[in-house]
Amino acid sequence: MHNQKFPPKADFVQKAWINETQYKELYAESMKDPEHFWAGQADRLTWMKKWTKVKDTSFHKPVSIKWFTGGKLNVSYNCIDRHLGHHADKVALIFEPDSPNHQTQKITYRQLHTEVCKMANVLKKLGAKKGDIVTIYMPMIPEAAYAMLACARIGAIHSVVFGGFSPDSIADRVNDGKSKLVITADAGYRGGKVVPLKDNIDKAMAKTPSVEKVLVFNYSQEKHDMTANRDVYYHEAVKGISDQCEPEEMDSEDPLFILYTSGSTGKPKGVLHTTGGYLLWASITHQYVFDCHENDIYWCTADVGWVTGHSYVVYGPLANAATSLIFEGTPTYPDASRFWQVVDKHQVSLFYSSPTAIRSLMREGNDFVKKSSRKSLRVLGTVGEPINPEAWHWYNDVVGEGRCPIVDTWWQTETGGHMITPIPGAIATKPGSATLPFFGVKPILLTNEGQEITGAGEGVLAIADSWPGQMRTVYGDHKRFEETYFSTYAGYYFTGDGCRRDEDGYYWITGRVDDVINVSGHRLGTAEIESALVANNKVAEAAVVGYPHDIKGQGIYAFVTLKTGVQSSDELKKELIQTVRQEIGPIASPDLIQWAPGLPKTRSGKIMRRILRKIAENAPEQLGDTSTLSDPSVVQDLVDKRLNR
Ligand code: ATP
Ligand code: MG
Repeated sequence: MHNQKFPPKADFVQKAWINETQYKELYAESMKDPEHFWAGQADRLTWMKKWTKVKDTSFHKPVSIKWFTGGKLNVSYNCIDRHLGHHADKVALIFEPDSPNHQTQKITYRQLHTEVCKMANVLKKLGAKKGDIVTIYMPMIPEAAYAMLACARIGAIHSVVFGGFSPDSIADRVNDGKSKLVITADAGYRGGKVVPLKDNIDKAMAKTPSVEKVLVFNYSQEKHDMTANRDVYYHEAVKGISDQCEPEEMDSEDPLFILYTSGSTGKPKGVLHTTGGYLLWASITHQYVFDCHENDIYWCTADVGWVTGHSYVVYGPLANAATSLIFEGTPTYPDASRFWQVVDKHQVSLFYSSPTAIRSLMREGNDFVKKSSRKSLRVLGTVGEPINPEAWHWYNDVVGEGRCPIVDTWWQTETGGHMITPIPGAIATKPGSATLPFFGVKPILLTNEGQEITGAGEGVLAIADSWPGQMRTVYGDHKRFEETYFSTYAGYYFTGDGCRRDEDGYYWITGRVDDVINVSGHRLGTAEIESALVANNKVAEAAVVGYPHDIKGQGIYAFVTLKTGVQSSDELKKELIQTVRQEIGPIASPDLIQWAPGLPKTRSGKIMRRILRKIAENAPEQLGDTSTLSDPSVVQDLVDKRLNR
């Protein structure tokens, strides 16, 4: 079953940007002569001045990564101004608010230009200039995108902090970049609840000496305080402001933004991306991986607080003059049919979400999906975690009714955009596999000792050479950048993920290297055991970790969330062990199974196994950095009911 292949359908291939032959040719070209390949691809951007050198990179210390040296361009110009010729009246952004009863908005490229120019002028008026770091803490509303683009227009570096983060997390991120200016809103909404953004900012500001001004959008009319001499309403600052603002000429290697990783494995890293290479990567991957065409309506459900929101809500789609939907809400509000209602309402054709969202909807049953039409859908995507084959099939069969190719995109905040991913008209998919590398990406599997594994095999995933979208440094800490990514295996970019390559050369992410479980000398990835558990149709979600075991070295501890309406029982535990034995083998049988009403997740929805590991090790006092946890109460319940004492 695991090698079941889903080839692209003929009618899809016919209209696709890239078919199988083209993929193979282009990939080979990109490997043979990267400079030549990327020089050609860079024409998709509009440059104010052409570069003198395409690629100037070294993965050996001192690590240095530069693309399109000497080239000048502006990201906001590339995402807006250059589309005004043919696409001025095309819808750039569709806004769907949290409540289906609130007003939808459609913003054309012409309107986007006006809004971004005005906001850029407001930022200048507040003293922001090229090279400054501006913190953005916003709800998922069009103004969040305007703020990012306005920063890019004047050459300020944005640092977007997810609207779900607490005052302490905001303060850490503001202080890391010593921001002088913060952009926020009075409040936002998520799942019918008010998110008190301005209150959180006020609390954070007690610990952020660098901040001079806070720019506030009146979005919600919720009650909030304003601090004299510091806080400025946007609607007041914008009075009399010009709607024209010349885009700043930026060097290809000038920073575009800082963004912190999700914090799944520890303290978040301040990832720095620059201008030319990043935009090229976001744009080319968005076009080809989603097969985005002129009339597509594209929706990525990620928040702009994550890299997915940067590359695939804002920069990729807008660089390509696409129509991108911004959604303020959650998958289950007012009920579990919301995604599909929005798809029908706006005739969404390209849909990109996460395994965690898909599993949460699968848990609620098919009726919520079936009551929508979804006829407009063409391509379905996921990112963030390995997608369990069971969830993949549900996405494919129930949501896409077998019509829509699924693109399971493997990438990281650090990589700027997709790295290993299907291209839907070119690459046959296999449920649970991210398939093959994108152009210019050279994945390498290494043994723990750093030996390269050729052909089929399993090891640590590294990347052998630079690609344009790669992060350039950890903000303010180049040493941490070198230590984290280039020290484990000299000369390679170390991803931190484990991976298997099959006989067809397909890549399967097996989980984080830190999470690998070693049972009696056998190395087991978490993804495979979790997928085996989820293959039982009573299970909604599972997380597996190792714990010290006298005989086996490590035992397998599984945390299992059941589908809505399913009762837990000891019989069911036996049944699950049976399922795993059948799917993988006795070696992978869980030693302990704890029922989990919920799993600890980052705010971007990823399972935080490092916390579960501490619970399984009976060391709940050592949970580590929990600041990126989305619902701390989940952890307490698991700690209270832990089995290994
Ligand atoms: P931190 O680096 O702070 O621990 P994080 O790794 O979760 O957090 P992100 O950059 O958001 O931060 O996530 C990248 C990671 O997400 C990848 O390294 C991988 O483990 C996982 N991932 C993303 N997409 C996929 C996918 N399609 N299949 C499997 N794993 C994926
Ligand atoms: Mg990571």
